[in-house]
Amino acid sequence: MNIFGKKPGARILLLAAMVVLAGWWSLRADTSLKWKLSKDSESLVTDAKLRDEIFDALDAAEKAGTDPRITHFNVRVATAFEKDGKERVVTGGNVEYEVPEGIHGETSVLNHVTALYGADTTRNHVRFLAFFAQQCGGGASCGDCRDYQMATTDYEHLLVACGQASDRTVKVSRFADQIVCERNFPEVDSAKIPLPAEELRRLVRSAEEARRGGVTLFTRERHIGAAALSFAGKTYRAAGADDAAFHYRYPIGGLLQQAMTERDYFLRAIVIRGENGEWPIVNYRDRQYGYEASSFNHAAGKPPIVLILSNGRGQFRMTTFESALPSAFSTADFMPEALKTFLATHATDR
Ligand SMILES: [Zn+2]
Repeated sequence: MNIFGKKPGARILLLAAMVVLAGWWSLRADTSLKWKLSKDSESLVTDAKLRDEIFDALDAAEKAGTDPRITHFNVRVATAFEKDGKERVVTGGNVEYEVPEGIHGETSVLNHVTALYGADTTRNHVRFLAFFAQQCGGGASCGDCRDYQMATTDYEHLLVACGQASDRTVKVSRFADQIVCERNFPEVDSAKIPLPAEELRRLVRSAEEARRGGVTLFTRERHIGAAALSFAGKTYRAAGADDAAFHYRYPIGGLLQQAMTERDYFLRAIVIRGENGEWPIVNYRDRQYGYEASSFNHAAGKPPIVLILSNGRGQFRMTTFESALPSAFSTADFMPEALKTFLATHATDR
């Protein structure tokens, strides 16, 4: 006996019903599998070929392999483009390992494009990165991935698509919206900077002194020095340091690590100094470090860290990491209670 019953007639009828049901179900599945652009995305994707490439990339991204063993947060991403008369679809996925370190989805997919088709293809053919997500929340790339996308793609025209699994809508935005050039940091008179004049002078000198140090065996024009003042009244400074493995130690990251080593978690201001007369460049990875630290201030009810750029000629630009890294994420977003507990049990000065 089986679940279809004893009688052959009834069995056939039931089987026939199941075939019809299966057909209907697959038809239904086919319909539900179709991606569609959200209304506000249509103006960014005007040609049908690009739209189809985005949808094909999302289908591939859905199946991309990942290994996020710490966060269990999958970043599945793909791109598609025509190369030698054929559509090419390339995927990427995030991997985490216990330090904690990780390879992110964006860098993964772009590296795969370069490995398969060369760096010129990454720069000239990649028009978008498409993320497959259960829910598209509007978060952008981390600072490091922004640096990498700027370095390897035609980023001013790059699009970012997010395909939502639940309803198959696709939201598209411009990668350029994640970028804020240092030249767009507002220029301010030194009197408008919320630090005593002598304190500001001291920080500028300290950052300049830091810039004379560091390691610049591979660094070209991006060498900067950074100095910071904490709410506890302590100062920290650091310069960039390169190495043969190209595991660059960033200046803001460096001084933050010193402050955090002293359990001094709340910084008031960070001053960056470039070459005399030049506005310094602040890498997006370093902005990510600053953004994370500023979210500590926010969790403790303090104002955000003030980020000050000095060109060494008495001119200043002033902003916050929140403005310099739009749509960023930090621990405060994922585990706010854990962060509050951590700060409450570790900080030496609140
Ligand atoms: Zn990233």
